Amino acid sequence: MSSPSKLYENSEVGGGTMKISVRTGKRLEKISKEALAEPDKFWADQARNLIWFKEWNHILEWNSPFARWFVGGTLNASVNCLDRHINTDTKNKAAIIWESESGETRTLSYFQLYRQVNKFANVLKSLGVSKGDRVTIYMPMVPEMPIAMLACARIGAIHSVVFSGFSAQALIDRANDAKSKVIITADGGIRKGRLVELKKVVDESLPSLPSVEHVIVLERAGNKVNTGPKDLWWHELMEGAKIYCPPEPVESTHPLYILYTSGTTGKPKGVMHGTGGYLTHLYSTAKWVFDFTNQDIFFCTADIGWVTGHSYIVYAPLMHGITEIMYEGAPDFPKPNRYWAIVEKHGATILYTTPTALRMYMKYDDDGVVSNSFDLSSLRLLGTVGEPINPKVWMWYFKRIGNENCPIVDTWWQTETGGTMLSMCTGIETIPMKPGSATFPVPGVDAVVVDETGKPVEPGTKGYIVIRKPWPGMFLSLWGNDEKYRQTYWTKFPGLYYAGDYALVDEEGYLWLLGRADDVLKVAGHRLGTMELESAFVSHKAIAEAAVTGKPDETKGESIIAFLVPKEGFSDYENLRKEVVAHIRSTLGPIAVPNEVYFVSKLPKTRSGKIMRRLLKSISSGDKIGDITTLEDEAAIDEVRQAYEDLKKMVNS
Ligand code: ATP
Ligand code: MG
Repeated sequence: MSSPSKLYENSEVGGGTMKISVRTGKRLEKISKEALAEPDKFWADQARNLIWFKEWNHILEWNSPFARWFVGGTLNASVNCLDRHINTDTKNKAAIIWESESGETRTLSYFQLYRQVNKFANVLKSLGVSKGDRVTIYMPMVPEMPIAMLACARIGAIHSVVFSGFSAQALIDRANDAKSKVIITADGGIRKGRLVELKKVVDESLPSLPSVEHVIVLERAGNKVNTGPKDLWWHELMEGAKIYCPPEPVESTHPLYILYTSGTTGKPKGVMHGTGGYLTHLYSTAKWVFDFTNQDIFFCTADIGWVTGHSYIVYAPLMHGITEIMYEGAPDFPKPNRYWAIVEKHGATILYTTPTALRMYMKYDDDGVVSNSFDLSSLRLLGTVGEPINPKVWMWYFKRIGNENCPIVDTWWQTETGGTMLSMCTGIETIPMKPGSATFPVPGVDAVVVDETGKPVEPGTKGYIVIRKPWPGMFLSLWGNDEKYRQTYWTKFPGLYYAGDYALVDEEGYLWLLGRADDVLKVAGHRLGTMELESAFVSHKAIAEAAVTGKPDETKGESIIAFLVPKEGFSDYENLRKEVVAHIRSTLGPIAVPNEVYFVSKLPKTRSGKIMRRLLKSISSGDKIGDITTLEDEAAIDEVRQAYEDLKKMVNS
């Protein structure tokens, strides 16, 4: 088998063509060493970058597995994002440049955002919302969404954002779990040119939501909606609202929000984050990873319905007082070039996006036809998050989008971790990159790869990534379910945080994420990561996307099944199948040769864009399909099932 570091040797990064000057990593090593020697002191120094009403008495109370950071301290998240800039030159700077799918834009300065947040906080107060109450936010990607979140934070209410692509059942489950008092929504959102009728979904859900007293509706799409006794219009409430709302000083450990995970591996979990630790983690990691400067225009393409949007659209960039772009719409509508058009139009300096979006764009970019038609020269840094990035996709991103001038930060983290845990830290030093490696833990994070017994593995050996010490962005628990929190994250390796991902460390200490631990295949005694296999498929010129799963096999233990999405224009599936098998044999070896290869036009993905391999496994092994509330497109499942059954018929006839 080829090791990931082999991929690095084969690539050109760090070779003659690279225009980025890189350093040795000694500075990072020194900072990380000092941080891990005295993590409490290190994080307390970081926490001093925030604005506190009262400093903490204890840096960390660690009653395993519950961590409480900066106990006794009080602060307010909206003060840290807004008030801190209001008496500085940042006051009149653009905070959010919003762009719609059709190219409409709106810009809000820090002062304008501050005003709106204060007024909306008073609106919530006037409706009886107070500290600790839960507010469900079910809104399109417009500036009023962060305004609503920050207004909750200002009065100490706990926001629970529900992704606007979800339908009634998902909204009901989440709002009932949180027992929300208020729902904030809009008359509609726009995606792929179509109206998303959010208010209608809320109307449908309301009879099943006994805790909800009020529904606040933003006029956004000019859509006529029904109004019932609980409905109130955003603009009417704002008209009479006072312009200043004193911020509520909350304890550092006070929950800032609840957010449900993507549901890639099973039923989504209600992750609960605190305030002081979470903000400290975000403030520091944003500085280290992205090296924010005053001139930056940061474009994070995530939806605020997911944690990347919470952390790197709302809290981190605003704390740093930078200008950011917020985009409402699909990456490929009306044309598969929206991100590039937005980078060019607004002069984005940092782009932070997902491998799934990059694979989509790459599919349309033969010989750079799309990427070359935009001026992307404003970019200085590229980022990726959400899934392992295939080395071939990494190289395309590096060359075509970054023009070999931009380092790539591959940031590994989770809803549960709050902020980045593994990534190159360009704010500390840019080190040699390896396509597909998230490099090293950020300072103060004690991440290691362990074997089945919890012992650190030798370099080159695959294992599980775990975190040995509490970190400030660590979630408080799962909402209302401490037992599940314990069970899910702390029982596999007592005392170690189990992240559920498979990884290895190479000879030089670089970390490589190899996919979900649940997805690991055991073929003839070898443990194969789905990531490594999928990257090998995608490295074939005709393959745009790949998902690999296993199936019980009498002789080999497990056999490999591949679902492949060919690039546009490839349709001779019989030949392609042979070619792909030969390609795998020559790149990874006979052990990795798939037993079954299916061609499909799309893969089942979560609404956050991640491949749901567990569904493929259920189909191929005839098991019941589990929770699919976060599945993006049910048609993908039907297609996979059809492809599977067609081939079975062919084989049997
Ligand atoms: P669920 O926990 O409900 O199955 P999820 O894990 O997809 O959903 P998130 O918290 O949104 O929900 O995603 C975190 C996961 O995303 C990580 O555990 C990891 O598998 C994957 N991930 C995120 N960033 C990276 C990265 N840079 N490289 C590899 N994998 C990544
Ligand atoms: Mg997860």
